[in-house]
Amino acid sequence: MTAVVRLVLDVPLDKVFDYRLEDASATDRGRLAVVPFGSRTTVGMILDVTDASDVDPAQLKSVTRVLREEPALSPDDWQLLRFASDYYHYPLGQAVMGALPLRLRKPPRATAARAVRPRAARIRAAADPAPFHELTEAQLAAVEAVGAQLGRFAAFLLLGVTGSGKTEVYLRLAADVLDRGNQVLMLVPEIALTPQLESMVQARFPQTRLVSLHSALNETERLTNWRAAQTGDARIVLGTRLAVFTPLPQLGLIVVDEEHDGSFKQTEGFCYSARDLAIARAHQRGVPVVLGSATPSLETYHNATSGRYTLLELPQRINARPPRIECIPLDRRQMTGSFTTRLLDAIESCLVRKDQALVFINRRGYAPVLTCRHCGWLSGCDRCSAQLVLHMPKPRLHCHHCGHERRVPDACPQCGEQDLTPLGQGTQRIEEALRDRFTEARVLRIDRDSTRRKHAWDAMREQIRSRDVDILVGTQMLAKGHDFPHLALVGVLNADSMLYSADFRAAERLYALLTQVAGRAGRGESQGEVLIQTEYPAHPLYAALREQDFRGFADQLLAERRQAGFPPFVHQALLRAEAREVAKALEFLEHARALGREIGGNVQLFDAVPALLVRLAGRERAQLLVQSGSRTDLHAFLKTWRARLGQGKTSRVRWALEVDPLEL
Ligand SMILES: [Zn+2]
Ligand SMILES: [Zn+2]
Repeated sequence: MTAVVRLVLDVPLDKVFDYRLEDASATDRGRLAVVPFGSRTTVGMILDVTDASDVDPAQLKSVTRVLREEPALSPDDWQLLRFASDYYHYPLGQAVMGALPLRLRKPPRATAARAVRPRAARIRAAADPAPFHELTEAQLAAVEAVGAQLGRFAAFLLLGVTGSGKTEVYLRLAADVLDRGNQVLMLVPEIALTPQLESMVQARFPQTRLVSLHSALNETERLTNWRAAQTGDARIVLGTRLAVFTPLPQLGLIVVDEEHDGSFKQTEGFCYSARDLAIARAHQRGVPVVLGSATPSLETYHNATSGRYTLLELPQRINARPPRIECIPLDRRQMTGSFTTRLLDAIESCLVRKDQALVFINRRGYAPVLTCRHCGWLSGCDRCSAQLVLHMPKPRLHCHHCGHERRVPDACPQCGEQDLTPLGQGTQRIEEALRDRFTEARVLRIDRDSTRRKHAWDAMREQIRSRDVDILVGTQMLAKGHDFPHLALVGVLNADSMLYSADFRAAERLYALLTQVAGRAGRGESQGEVLIQTEYPAHPLYAALREQDFRGFADQLLAERRQAGFPPFVHQALLRAEAREVAKALEFLEHARALGREIGGNVQLFDAVPALLVRLAGRERAQLLVQSGSRTDLHAFLKTWRARLGQGKTSRVRWALEVDPLEL
């Protein structure tokens, strides 16, 4: 009798692979093993140990080595990965291996001893721990409600206006969970926010080992931190979406901060939502999960108002009044460049008071496009159906979609006239205009270009906090979570460009973004002021924003979605295809649609259509939407459909299935 181990490998196939292993034991389940695969050597994970295989024993290859010096993945960790693989219809092997730190996915070198031992707990020389703040009544009620459910599954939406002290609620709960000897997993949307939060949490729990997990760590750090969580040495794990898979043997609480944020959704390869997996994980492990936001996603809000989750509200800011939000109608007669007189005056008086002002425009670069005034030529990208963005001070044209970059032509490529001019506004141009207008003011631009260097953003935050800056110009990087106590005024340019969009989630996103930007104003003593320049001051979105009435706005949008049959009232999946020509992609999708019709079931198959951005980096894309009122029926259909799609000849078309897509 031959001992056989069944492995999952990092290959795009829905199958397991059998190998011979003489000294196999049941404890090898969940361990990594080095195996020959085709002409190469690879690492896989042992799913099962058995004594029989369907493969002819003569054909069975042997495991090269089981990495017994590495801890095995626990049944709990498996359960989450299996669920994720099933739910997102993604091969288990790729899901499992993709969840691991990169170092573990490669065969170790024969000589080097590889196991990274967790470092001794990093006990900081504590001064005393940072004190806990006194809780408001609302915060206390939230802490008590969640605290009463420790040790069992319960999902909460913590709906708190910006500055209402959601973090304090998380920290109090973390203290309870740590006291019980359990671990805490905190997910945040952005790497940029982790150092700030990390030092805040560490200051509160100076004796507790805290590790972070995000893509800016190098591979050694990531492996070390992963191990510390897996051995139970780390008690608090703080991370971005990939951290949702971290092994946590004593998990006691999951927190997802800014749960509405799109970055919890992976949009390539394994398209999972870390927010949704956090809920599945909490359910599997019997622990509470807290989703926090000032502007929750409508899916979450609907779950909270329909009773599936418990709704907890923090309606007031701590020690500060809500900002005053006003819309300024765009009137060309009273404008200087992109600025209304009203906004310029407000900036002026802000400077006089020695307060800081922020001008928000969600578009980086100098101008979104270069045009020829003679013939109307526009600077387009050769590889994408998009315009090239003009960047300064060294004039260059950049594609923000594929990364293509080139110099600015001396003359129009179409008519030869030397009459090229930038059209529209980006952060760089706004920065220039503000410097020209307020010559004494110190202006700082914050976007992905100005913060590209490592630690640049940290240094800038320090500059802002120590009042070395008078006017900030920035994109949504500035909107998220940062607390700038001297910022009194926020001016919003060009929000209208985000108001009308083909995507039914556009209004929800714009409301969230503007609430976050507005939330930066007036975190200190004086009341903050937010001025939004718009052509449509009466638009319901702006009206709700002025009233700061998220619930009214969300109820209205939900009523519309129910009527129109959009999520969360239906469940969707998107089949995306790309090829050299869009016709090929569409042809594949038509074939997929015909297959889908044969399978049938309680699903609705829409027409195959070209993607909004058809051409991207030289490939052309199309998509096919499938939806159903029943999640179970949708998934039953997807399982059969995906298996049959995989059988066809699709060599020239690349395709992928995305469950619960956020971008259509
Ligand atoms: Zn021209
Ligand atoms: Zn491009």
